[in-house]
Amino acid sequence: MAYSIKTQLTDAKKQKPAADELGFGKYYTDHMFMMDYNGEEQGWENPRIIPYQPISLDPAAKVFHYGQTVFEGLKAYRTADQRILLFRPQKNFKRLNLSNERIDIPPIDESFVLQALKELIQIDQDWIPTEKGTSLYIRPFIIATEPSLGASTSTHHQFIIILSPVGSYYPEGIHPVKIYVESEYVRAVKGGIGMAKTAGNYAAGLKAQADVSAQGFAQVLWLDGVHRKYIEEVGSMNVFFKVGGKVITPALNGSILDGVVRNSILQLLKLWNIPTEERMISIDELYEAYLSGTLEEAFGTGTAAVISPIGELHWQDKKLVINGGDTGELSAKLYDTLTGIQNGEKSDVLEWMVEV
Ligand SMILES: *Cc1c(COP(=O)(O)O)cnc(C)c1O
Repeated sequence: MAYSIKTQLTDAKKQKPAADELGFGKYYTDHMFMMDYNGEEQGWENPRIIPYQPISLDPAAKVFHYGQTVFEGLKAYRTADQRILLFRPQKNFKRLNLSNERIDIPPIDESFVLQALKELIQIDQDWIPTEKGTSLYIRPFIIATEPSLGASTSTHHQFIIILSPVGSYYPEGIHPVKIYVESEYVRAVKGGIGMAKTAGNYAAGLKAQADVSAQGFAQVLWLDGVHRKYIEEVGSMNVFFKVGGKVITPALNGSILDGVVRNSILQLLKLWNIPTEERMISIDELYEAYLSGTLEEAFGTGTAAVISPIGELHWQDKKLVINGGDTGELSAKLYDTLTGIQNGEKSDVLEWMVEV
């Protein structure tokens, strides 16, 4: 598609925060990308890069009432030799279209929005932090903007990309977290929207997350909504268990997200000849493995933390302390390998990185 992107640069650049103040999703760069969908005839149009600013929507815009919205999350890294690298961005835009399909939002042109993202990052490249573990988090999203309270598919949408410099997830080094196995609430069911990256899944999980945070847990581990026993995901991460030398992760069953990091971990393990299994795994099976001493490691995977080792799992009145509560050897190796590839320090053997 041959549309060009109109660019309007800001004349009031913001002050950049210090690296140790970044945190996650607190600061935004000077510019944003936007385009509009004004009905089937026009399709997506008016792609533009403009100064970062609030958007104005009619209070009846459908996104506010019926949650017709999808999003993505990926990162850009500044290498020691000053290149800018994206981690498998094609997979994020492909997944955005899968989410679009499920939420009935019109598809975007994947290669065009990748090009638009590169232009936006070029413009705001001084915002990419360089300290170890930092990166530029990228949040593409689509919202339904038609001002109508009719509970039907919106005729109008906006696609937006914002950028946020983020600090190291582990300023004191990678460390394990405590996880609560949720037996009351469920997040998603097969046939629902669990396989889409969309607000509704998060809305369904906020209350459970807030309850367990108050008790000192980092995240909730979700069980399936039908049998209430098969393991699904950890908060906004996919989950892996090393049991008796094999690495097991729940299969993509329609109710969990197809994580880019999940997919990358499976590829790395295959490359290293470590046996992997994508299948259903019940909490009872996991507890049996724990009792027999074969549950060796557990970790979550996602763009924000990359790898999040699980030190303790609390299930009903039982407490499973995994690998003595320390980061496992394989978890650490996966973390070092993936982050090394992402920041350009390690050889990109699987050709994942895309230069901006
Ligand atoms: C984004 C997300 C993940 C992780 O996906 P990555 O592509 O690896 O970042 C996992 N689960 C849910 C529910 C998510 O929204």
